[in-house]
Amino acid sequence: MDYFDLNLNLTSEDIALREAASKFAREVMRPVSIQLDRMTPEEAFAKGSPYWDFMRQAYQLGYHKLPFPEDFGGPGLSPLQIQIVMEELAWGSFGLTLALNTSLDAAVAMAGTEEHIKEFTIPYCQCTDGSYVGCWAITEPDHGSDTLVTGYPSFRDPNIPANCRARLDGDDYVINGQKAAWVSAGPLANHILLMCQIDPARGHAGSGIFIFSLDRPGVALGKPLNKLGSRDLCQGEVYFDNVRVPKKYLIVGPENYEAALEAHLCLTLPMVGTWATGLARAAFDEALAYAKQRVQGGKPLVELSNIQQKIFDMFRKVEASRQLCRAAFVYNWSQPFSPEKRAIEYSMAAKTFATQAALEVTSDAIQILGGNGISKEYVVEKLFRDARTTLICDGSNDTLSVVGGNKIAGAYPRRFQS
Ligand SMILES: Cc1cc2nc3c(=O)[nH]c(=O)nc-3n(C[C@H](O)[C@H](O)[C@H](O)COP(=O)(O)OP(=O)(O)OC[C@H]3O[C@@H](n4cnc5c(N)ncnc54)[C@H](O)[C@@H]3O)c2cc1C
Repeated sequence: MDYFDLNLNLTSEDIALREAASKFAREVMRPVSIQLDRMTPEEAFAKGSPYWDFMRQAYQLGYHKLPFPEDFGGPGLSPLQIQIVMEELAWGSFGLTLALNTSLDAAVAMAGTEEHIKEFTIPYCQCTDGSYVGCWAITEPDHGSDTLVTGYPSFRDPNIPANCRARLDGDDYVINGQKAAWVSAGPLANHILLMCQIDPARGHAGSGIFIFSLDRPGVALGKPLNKLGSRDLCQGEVYFDNVRVPKKYLIVGPENYEAALEAHLCLTLPMVGTWATGLARAAFDEALAYAKQRVQGGKPLVELSNIQQKIFDMFRKVEASRQLCRAAFVYNWSQPFSPEKRAIEYSMAAKTFATQAALEVTSDAIQILGGNGISKEYVVEKLFRDARTTLICDGSNDTLSVVGGNKIAGAYPRRFQS
């Protein structure tokens, strides 16, 4: 379904992009996503499964490279256009949209050298058959929230040992350890953006960011994890046993790691919030359509005042989510490498608000559908399960709120920009 956009400055190109993504989400993503949700993880991601057919179609249309500039082979979209298209795709599926965007994170890839861009980013952008699969790995079996709380004493505590470490040996880094079962696309990946510890004396802050292909001796990939929601997103471990990686593949070293991680979170958090907004809007659309056709006591549900109130509450949350996520993403995209101007508190607010809203909106959608809401015959029970995963993805909301509050306490009152 279409939505009204308050932005009076949308161009005909913005609207055309939105319509094309909306059609793809409705006609391709939603049906595949439901199919994958009902399969076992082994079936869903096996060679020849509908997942791979979907990826081929999405890569052909360029939906795997939305954030990349034209110089790298990307579409060169404005930040607003990226946000608009991402919300549409996530209307079709949160998990598949995440899967399309976990490969070689754009912000960090752009921080790489010309050589990194030539070797990794351009071939990724040129891929049209879904075969170039990247993953982003930071979470470890013993370290989830720990790895994201930049600025916190625990982030710099040398007494907290990491599960995955890189040690310089001649011209190579030697990597040992593992990343957690939460690595999106981990079991399918042939490339990785790896955040792992290099200097234990600095704790997690002593990490670095590597980019490399996974076809090296000592790399092993886990099995796809079985989950409550976002079942169309493949997740699993990546293991390293004395894996040698030339030092030219280190993009960011320990001296700049904390700032680079913050820059990364500034962009990924409102993007996760944007996907949650698309998911919530899908539930809103389903509930409204159902309320118009379901008759109880002689009238359609939609004529009942409590249903109208619920519909309004859902609408309010979807619209507020979009505005906050869009503003945080567009603003921070324009300042990625300018630490004094970045506003990570807005990105944290956007992600936590939109994902909480998605959980509430999908729950309300189930309530409006009554018994049908919990039946597999209707998509809202899937949307509810998918929404539950968003509160943990890219940093749990509780942790982000604690860290966000800490940042605000330290940085406010903030000056208006000149
Ligand atoms: C859909 C999805 C996709 C993901 N994709 C990736 C990926 O591509 N790559 C990757 O590396 N990881 C990925 N993750 C992992 C995700 O980033 C972690 O799950 C998240 O950071 C939380 O870590 P944890 O699960 O270990 O929970 P824990 O850190 O163990 O936290 C457990 C609970 O304790 C609370 N808690 C912990 N510390 C604090 C604190 N200091 N203050 C307040 N509360 C606290 C948390 O809020 C949470 O409620 C993904 C997760 C999901 C659900």
